[in-house]
Amino acid sequence: MTIPAHLLPADGRFGSGPSKIRPAQIDALTSAGAAVLGTSHRQPAVKDLVRRVRSGLADLLAVPDGYEVVLGNGGSTAFWEIAAACLVERRAQHASFGEFGAKFAAATARAPFLAAPQVLRAEPGTVALLEPSPGEDAVDVHATPHNETSTGAMITPTRVPGSAERGALMLIDATSGAGALPVDLTQTDVYYFAPQKVFAADGGLWLAIASPAAIERAARVEAAAPADGRWVPEFLSFTTALTNSRANQTLNTPAVATLVLLAEQVDWLLAQGGLEWSAARCRESATALYDWAQARTWASPFVADPAHRSTVVGTIDLDATIDAGAVVAALRDNGVLDVFPYRKLGRNQLRVGMFPAVDPADVQALTACVDYVVEHLG
Ligand SMILES: *Cc1c(COP(=O)(O)O)cnc(C)c1O
Repeated sequence: MTIPAHLLPADGRFGSGPSKIRPAQIDALTSAGAAVLGTSHRQPAVKDLVRRVRSGLADLLAVPDGYEVVLGNGGSTAFWEIAAACLVERRAQHASFGEFGAKFAAATARAPFLAAPQVLRAEPGTVALLEPSPGEDAVDVHATPHNETSTGAMITPTRVPGSAERGALMLIDATSGAGALPVDLTQTDVYYFAPQKVFAADGGLWLAIASPAAIERAARVEAAAPADGRWVPEFLSFTTALTNSRANQTLNTPAVATLVLLAEQVDWLLAQGGLEWSAARCRESATALYDWAQARTWASPFVADPAHRSTVVGTIDLDATIDAGAVVAALRDNGVLDVFPYRKLGRNQLRVGMFPAVDPADVQALTACVDYVVEHLG
């Protein structure tokens, strides 16, 4: 099936991660960035790049006084293990309403030196909200995704009432939300993410905005190990990552190209108008997608509650009479890429990455392409 050219988006990349990288970012790899590629990450040029990323993110996310931008290798998945090793003192509470929240819960459940986590589960397409956990078995970490990339459901990070008084930390997995969803970082202790979603770079790095309480927690937990039976491998040491980050370094060699792409995207977002601009642009895309679905008899937003419908990753269920896999394949044949649902969700669904690199006009064009494909599938 050939979709008429005038219907096609200017750029057909709608992946939910890795996501569209803007051509100007790729150009930077061969212009300004070319000078740092293939040079030592211990020398000023790469350190300056890390500094640019850290100060740009501090601006973009309005990082509060005393909070620090920390980074290391291994992506958000590595950060879950770092959190289990260094940030959870005894027991974590997890909101689990999709694959990613569930994976972090599984990570703390596996740690032999931690008590079994409290897992608040909700069906995919809905959200579970963190709640107070007082008493004997109180938790010292509350953890939730900001945006559950596997289902397209988002929440607003807010401190659990009473948690600060109990010294419990708020850990927010913002891998697909940071830089595109509004956030008040004073409501969080660790707001962590990776560059391959909103920041339109390659994967492999984790970044975390950490509060003084989180920094203090890690120092205390790490100092008590291994005498208390906990093993903190150097690679998973939050405090080691912090020390390196303060020097605009990473413990081991980072992907310099990823840092270039990330720095370019952070600067671009700032130049466009910062987080407010980014959030508004994603909202515009999301409104176009959800309004389109609601106007079709054969499509509907997967997330029932409009307040929890993600403005960065849109999930649209298709009627059982339409094979979403065939729609995805026809789109792919025409250069419209990666709108398949999360593999383990197993729904007859389209999932659309609407990160700030994606032009809202291209999301509009995508909906026209889906209309065309559905009409011509026969
Ligand atoms: C993509 C994603 C992850 C995993 O990120 P990696 O960098 O691949 O480890 C974790 N959490 C959320 C919410 C994600 O979207």
